Parts: sequence; C-alpha cells; structure tokens
Amino acid sequence: MTRITVANGDGIGPEIMDATLAIIRAAGAKIEVDEIEVGEKVYLAGNTAGIAKESWDIIRRNKIFLKAPITTPQGGGYKSLNVTTRKFLGLYANIRPCISLHPFVKTKHPQMNIVIVRENEEDLYAGIEHQQTDEVVQCLKLISRPGCEKIVRYAFEYAKQYGRKKVTCFTKDNIMKQTDGLFHQVFDEIAKDYPTIENEHWIIDIGAAKMADTPEAFDVIVMPNLYGDVLSDVAAQIAGSVGLAGSANIGEECAMFEAIHGSAPRRAGQNMANPSGLLQGAVLMLVHIGQVDVAEKVQNAWLKTIEDGIHTYDIFKEGTSRQKVGTKEFAEAVIGNLGNKPSQLAAVSLSGNAALNLPKYVRKPARKKELSGVDLFVHWNGSSADELAGILENINTPSVKLSMITNRGIKVFPDGFSETFCTDHWRCRFKHVDEKNITKQDIIQLMQAAFDNNIDVIKTENLYIFDGKPAYSLGQGQ
Ligand code: NAD
Repeated sequence: MTRITVANGDGIGPEIMDATLAIIRAAGAKIEVDEIEVGEKVYLAGNTAGIAKESWDIIRRNKIFLKAPITTPQGGGYKSLNVTTRKFLGLYANIRPCISLHPFVKTKHPQMNIVIVRENEEDLYAGIEHQQTDEVVQCLKLISRPGCEKIVRYAFEYAKQYGRKKVTCFTKDNIMKQTDGLFHQVFDEIAKDYPTIENEHWIIDIGAAKMADTPEAFDVIVMPNLYGDVLSDVAAQIAGSVGLAGSANIGEECAMFEAIHGSAPRRAGQNMANPSGLLQGAVLMLVHIGQVDVAEKVQNAWLKTIEDGIHTYDIFKEGTSRQKVGTKEFAEAVIGNLGNKPSQLAAVSLSGNAALNLPKYVRKPARKKELSGVDLFVHWNGSSADELAGILENINTPSVKLSMITNRGIKVFPDGFSETFCTDHWRCRFKHVDEKNITKQDIIQLMQAAFDNNIDVIKTENLYIFDGKPAYSLGQGQ
C-alpha cells in the first residue's frame, strides 16, 4: 500500500480526479489517499502561495503527489503553485510523453511517439527579475552544471529503460554560449556514457520547426526549462490534444504527477472534461511507485476505450468516434475495459520499468578562477556612447580603464554605429590597463569613483577566467 497526497484542484479538477481515482482503484491500485486543499480557495483566502503549511507537511511525508490542475487568480501577486512545488521539492525532471492515437484521435502525425524531458527548476524560471532603469527590466537566466547533469542523465537513463533509440538536445547555444552552451556541453559529455543510444543536438528554432513538421524524426528530446515548457505543449497538441497528455515531475525524494492542461474553468461542473491527461499522469505515478502491473492494465484499458470510439467532446469527431460521453461515463468505459487490450493501437507492456535511480550529483573540484575585469551597468539618459565614455574617463583608477561600452549587448564604444538604437541601460566594461587580472579592491575603487562622479551604477558583473578560458560573453560586434 502506498500513501499518496491528492489535490483535487479547481475548475474541472475535482471531476477528472474522481474519474482517475475510480479507474486506478478499480484496476487494483494499492493506494491510500491524503487529500489536501490547494489553489484558488487558498489563494483567495489570502495565502499568496496557494497552499497551507500543513499541506506541505503532508506532501513531504508522503513524497508522492497526484495533483489536478489549479486556477491561479490573475493579478494580486499570487505565485504559481506549480513552479513553487517543483522547486521546493527539487522535482528537476519533467517527463511528458506525447504519443498519437491515430486513427482514433485526429492528428496530422500518425507516427508520432516522443517524450519531452524538460529541465524543471532553473533557466528563466529562477524568477529573478528586476527593473534596473526607466527603460530596462531584466530576467536572469540561470543554468547550473548540476541542473544540466541531472536532467541530461535522466533523459539517457529514461531512453535506456524504455528501449528508446535516440536522445536529442535542443538549445540556442549559437546565441547563449555560456548558459545554453553549458547545457549542450554537458549533453555531449554524458552522451558518451551511453554508446548504444544515438544522440544529436539541434538549434531550438529549426529543431522546433522540424518537430512540429516531422515529429516521427524524434524520440526523446531533452531541453532547458522554457523551451521544454513551450514545446511540450506543442508536442501534446500536435499528437492529438493537450487534454490527453500527462506529466511526471521527478525529484530525488519526491515526485508529482499531473495533467499538462489547466483547470478549464468554462467546462467545470458539467461532466464534460476529458480525464485522460490526469489518468496518464496517474499511470506514470503507478510505474514510479512500483505498481507496474496496475499501470499496464489501466493504460491498455484506456487505449481500448479510445479505440472503441468512446470519446469526450474535445476529441469527439463524427465518423471516427462512436459515442460522445461525459467524464463519468468515460471513466466507466475504461473500468469496463480493464483486462482488455487494444487491437489496433499498440498495447503497452510496462514490465521491467520502475522509478529511475540516478546517482546523486557530486560537486566537482573547484576550478582555477581569475578576475579579469568588471562590467559596470549604468543608468544614463544621454544618447551618445562617446559622450558616456568621456564621462567614464574620469573614473578610471590607476590600474583599471574603460575598454568597451555596449547597449543591450551590442558594442557602441569604441567604434559604434550611429544607427544603433540605445536605451538608458549601458554596460561599461573595465579591464586592467596592462591586460592583467584585477582585484576586488580595484572594483571597490571604481565603484567609489563612479559614486563620486554621480554615475548611477545599477549593478556590476565580475569577468572571470576559468581554467584559462574567458567565461563571459563578448560585446556583439566586438
Ligand atoms: P486550459 O488548459 O485550462 O484550457 C485550454 C483549453 O483546453 C480550453 O478550451 C479548455 O476547455 C480545454 N481543455 C483543457 N483541458 C481539458 C480537458 N481535460 N477536457 C476537455 N477540454 C479541456 O488552459 P487555460 O484556459 O489557459 O487556463 C485555465 C486555468 O488553468 C488558469 O488559471 C491557469 O493558470 C491554470 N493552469 C493550471 C495548470 C496546472 O495546474 N498544472 C496548467 C496550466 C494552466
């Protein structure tokens, strides 16, 4: 018996949760349920996190969480409970299988069978944003080596366990050489440990276009958080419907399972919603908790029901569907099919699968780190970079001098173009006069000189060299 935490969620959540639990219980799932209240009611009662402390205690004790979609009220500073849960519980891997059910569910891609493995904790979802000047706001994109190693290894281990042939990596490392560059580099490193699994890397833009056009060219695709968020919805939709896909959020200790869609408030309370997405999440959960036989039984009964043409409104289509049913009736049909297998769709065999057991990340030895300069970010309302450079001449210290100014990344001094549009946000790069390393003391003196000259420094970034290689971006056009 496994004790799990269940949240019924908002909108269509309670109906699809009832249907899902009824099906898996009828299939023999050995679960005990602790229900918690999260989402809209909790938010509107004044808790901006959408969850009470006692509920966290239950989630952390049970470690397995089946969650129906929730409504995040618009405005009012409410934090997304999904993002918070993933990060608090260290659920670093988001697994989203997107498989077409042709010819029973309409799709342009009858052969599609891909699994998106999305990094779930970092990237632009670190949620670190600041307004820095009148004109410029920033969002920090944080990519870590442990984050990359864990997700990439998960993707390869997943491929190995499920007999998949290829793992593809999507990044934009031609532009983001440090952040996406690290993700790609770690992908190449870890791929070497799996010589029997094919590996490849695509730049995300053309990779996404290829995936939307020819998804059968892909198998497992691993990517950083934001790309994975966007492309897993695209993949689910082109496979047939976002209403059919479930997802697993996996951490070292805890795991959360859900549908990928939202709470569809307009369909709430009408016995209309398709419970398949949450049911798919529950099937992933059953495998994770070691009840593989139950998972297999549910999955095959579900496939048989889809194949029988018993469809909820969202996938119902005259001609291919036989009967339009509500949430409850769909669940009853799946329960009636327990023990049956589909005859045209491929029946699944899940035996031998289990929760993946990955090694813990071990911190690498520290690398040689030298300070080669500093970027001062300055809020300045002028428009000529040469004029700003003239002002900054005043703040040169004996060992450090201005070497470059960029505006939104493009070099505007020295030798800028008059056509370049400039905002009030300037990155001013200072280096040692003799191209040597600088010291923290140099930075403090520089900051003091900037302050004394009324220069509005809004942040600094140190320029480091790691193991002899510059580890910062050049100015565009430099
Ligand atoms: P949504 O996924 O709820 O709905 C999008 C469309 O798909 C709607 O037309 C809806 O009727 C339909 N749909 C979705 N699931 C369906 C199902 N199971 N059966 C039949 N039709 C279905 O997206 P939205 O309208 O953008 O968001 C509604 C609310 O859900 C928002 O408050 C949003 O914040 C929240 N949301 C929650 C989660 C989550 O909890 N994991 C995820 C996404 C959105």
